[in-house]
Amino acid sequence: MNFPPGHDQGLAPYAALEATSRGRRHPEDSAGYRGEFQRDRDRIIHSNAFRRLVYKTQVFVNHEGDLFRTRLTHSLEVAQIARTAARALGLSEPLTEAICLAHDLGHTPFGHAGQDALNECMRDHGGFEHNLQSLRVVDELEERYAQFQGLNLTFESREGILKHCSVAKARQLGDVGLRFIERRQPGLEAQLVNLADAIAYNNHDVDDGIRAGLVTTAELNQVGLFRRHHDTVLARYPDIQPRRLVHETVRRMINDVVTDLIEETRRRLAAATPASVDEVRLHKGLLVAFSEERAAEHYELKRFLRLRVYEHERVQEMREGAMRTLRELFEAFFKDVALMPSEHRDTALRLEADLGPAGRARAVADYVAGMTDRYAFLEHERVFRPD
Ligand code: MG
Repeated sequence: MNFPPGHDQGLAPYAALEATSRGRRHPEDSAGYRGEFQRDRDRIIHSNAFRRLVYKTQVFVNHEGDLFRTRLTHSLEVAQIARTAARALGLSEPLTEAICLAHDLGHTPFGHAGQDALNECMRDHGGFEHNLQSLRVVDELEERYAQFQGLNLTFESREGILKHCSVAKARQLGDVGLRFIERRQPGLEAQLVNLADAIAYNNHDVDDGIRAGLVTTAELNQVGLFRRHHDTVLARYPDIQPRRLVHETVRRMINDVVTDLIEETRRRLAAATPASVDEVRLHKGLLVAFSEERAAEHYELKRFLRLRVYEHERVQEMREGAMRTLRELFEAFFKDVALMPSEHRDTALRLEADLGPAGRARAVADYVAGMTDRYAFLEHERVFRPD
């Protein structure tokens, strides 16, 4: 099913074009003034899961401070980085933006700690993976339209949201799982969002890590990318205040890696000359990439953040409490589904009738994964301390 090509003007032949889109699972009339990828983006912004991102932890729990990134502001930063590169490369900006805004919809409360806890709880029932859950949110869990479950997004948005996936899982996912079985690439917009995601968190976690007092600029000067731009700023503004120094450094780091990504990707596209998105999918490797030198710096910073921020004991302390909260909620709801709000209880009973205990567990995981941090705390209070 192809859409009219009106919104493809100005795009490169290797972009995801609406004229050659693989369409929606449930065919719909076209959207009038909006293109189909714009429509995907708009549906994502109107979804419940998107609004919940505002109270979901990225790295620092929401109540630790108002200035830390949340999943929502992270997703917006990813989108603006990726849109710049999409434009420069002649790719579909609305599709890129749609994938960015949806890429973390499946995240649990409490960041990766929450995902790990839920994955353990689901060990005997197919596991839990936030990336698959993002797809599940847009395909199944949003209940907003009269004629279908989910948001009925285009294939291209769904392809981009499903960043990685085991072969076993891919077999259950139909068209969108096929590339993991056939070992093919996704379209360029999806490739771009993966790297924009990494650029966004690498840089905002430097800023948040300093703000939280977990790392200092002196320590960050061990990292080549940071040191280079930090020294440039200091040479130009020797008396600059510390907060401004951090921002002037981080904005240069972002510009540096995004520029490198655009230039390296242009080189690869010029060498590979894909004539269509399908040739991009069949290409042997990824076409959106950093240069070798910049990739090394990017991974150096990523490693530093893992050791010094994500694995910092203060972040880890939060992790233990968060994991316990989610584990206890899951166990309580799994044991007695009537403890959940009635629509979730009904879904659990329906999925259990279809699929057995794995279905019951999946409905509980969907409910718990959908919670914001603060709602998870409230639910924990309600279930364990009813007075
Ligand atoms: Mg992300």
